[in-house]
Amino acid sequence: MIELIRNQILVRYLHYLSFLLLLLGSCIYLYNTYKSNKFQTHYEAQILVNGFSSELIGKLNERLMLTKSLAAFVKHSEYNNIDNPLHLITLEDGFYRFTNSLHNDFSDIVSMQLAPEGKVKYVTNLERNQEALGHDLFIDDERREQVITTIKSRNNIVAGPLNLIQGGEAIIARQAIFTREGAFNPARVISNGRANEYDQWVTDVPSDFWGFATVLIDSQLIKDVAENWNGDRFNIAIRGRHGLGRPGEIFEGNEDVFKESIAELEVEFDGGSWLVAASTNVSYLKLNDVGIFIFTIFISITISILIKNSILERKKLTEQAQKDPLTKAFNRLKIRTEVQNCIEHYQRYGVGFCIIMFDIDKFKSINDNFGHAVGDDVLKSITDLFSNYIRKTDIFARYGGEEFIILCPNTPEINAIALAERLRALLSDTNFEIVGKVTASFGVSSFSEHDSLDSLYKRADDGIYQAKNNGRNDVCFVPIT
Ligand code: GH3
Ligand code: MG
Ligand code: MG
Repeated sequence: MIELIRNQILVRYLHYLSFLLLLLGSCIYLYNTYKSNKFQTHYEAQILVNGFSSELIGKLNERLMLTKSLAAFVKHSEYNNIDNPLHLITLEDGFYRFTNSLHNDFSDIVSMQLAPEGKVKYVTNLERNQEALGHDLFIDDERREQVITTIKSRNNIVAGPLNLIQGGEAIIARQAIFTREGAFNPARVISNGRANEYDQWVTDVPSDFWGFATVLIDSQLIKDVAENWNGDRFNIAIRGRHGLGRPGEIFEGNEDVFKESIAELEVEFDGGSWLVAASTNVSYLKLNDVGIFIFTIFISITISILIKNSILERKKLTEQAQKDPLTKAFNRLKIRTEVQNCIEHYQRYGVGFCIIMFDIDKFKSINDNFGHAVGDDVLKSITDLFSNYIRKTDIFARYGGEEFIILCPNTPEINAIALAERLRALLSDTNFEIVGKVTASFGVSSFSEHDSLDSLYKRADDGIYQAKNNGRNDVCFVPIT
């Protein structure tokens, strides 16, 4: 029973169920596609960031080595005594020959400079870097602190990228050069008027400090590498001006890249660090994925409609097989099946049942007097009248023509006879439109041990015959003999 109810519910909602399942399936598909595309894109972005960073840092470190080379050149020169003008002439000559060959190797080096005692004195690419010549790094209030830090770090310090006075943008790498004790002479600095004896920085500078080596690297280097890696799918940006890493400003690419970044890498180099990030402009769902989703929805709606139609069709066919098209009462076939069920029930459990048959009196004359259509209406009206009167468990059927049958399951004969009598009275008391009064003759039979379906029907039919003989509008019960 429960199984039956479950099956019926399943059948009734099958179209909704199939629609929901397909919808769920396509949502899962869409979600998984989204997730795997997202994963794939993030993965590619990380590879891009890693590749870009390693190429950039490789190139940058190569150029940062130049300040070390310059420092080594001065440190190991025999002519590095600032007090000796002849030394300086020889040093200058060596510097230009040394840097010329370096310039040939690195086209993106804007300039290489030496600043003995912190005052820029030797500058390559002089025509473009005239401004730098004579620049006193200690006197520059904005630079002094940075310069002292550079000395203390004893390593490269990176500044920039910065706009150059001579145009363009450059990364400035600077390193202090240390030669021997007494290389730095505070007395001379004071006597040259560059400081007075109370200036703190003069005492901060260690005694083996010789000066600075500076290398200006064209920022075009970064742009060139970025161009190699920036495709149509990803955007790259770098932050960390002055080698400040994450806290520094963005100096390459758009700041939106950092807001929407899907891959980042902190890259360290000699003298600072930068943070490289990538964002993407591709959407994680491609047009054909959405297309497949919409197509699946369309298919699921179609399938759902087809299922619904087939359910309705099946219901209609079952109804057609069981019902009389004119009166919509059950037909002869259906009532036979129901009576058969009652017989089986009787045989198994001994539950008795009855049938009531009736035939409308003088129906032919109704047709003759008022027409066939009016006759049809009378048949329908009687069906409605009786169907509404009897119990829900009783089954009302049209047996054929103007003959009907009522199956009363689980009903003793006395009750069936009483019901037939009430129906007879109900009909004869009813006033029909156009035709007025209509009566019927009723035959009742009750199922007994030695009965069959046919013998049960036969006795009810005999009852009708007797009722007709009694002058019609009568009820006759025919017992088994
Ligand atoms: P009786 O009291 O002896 O039963 O007389 P009767 O006229 O009812 O009996 P008869 O068997 O001579 O006539 C039955 C009539 O019922 C004949 C037939 O045309 C009519 N009939 C059968 N089926 C239909 C139907 O579906 N619609 C209409 N309008 N008439 C029907
Ligand atoms: Mg008849
Ligand atoms: Mg009749």
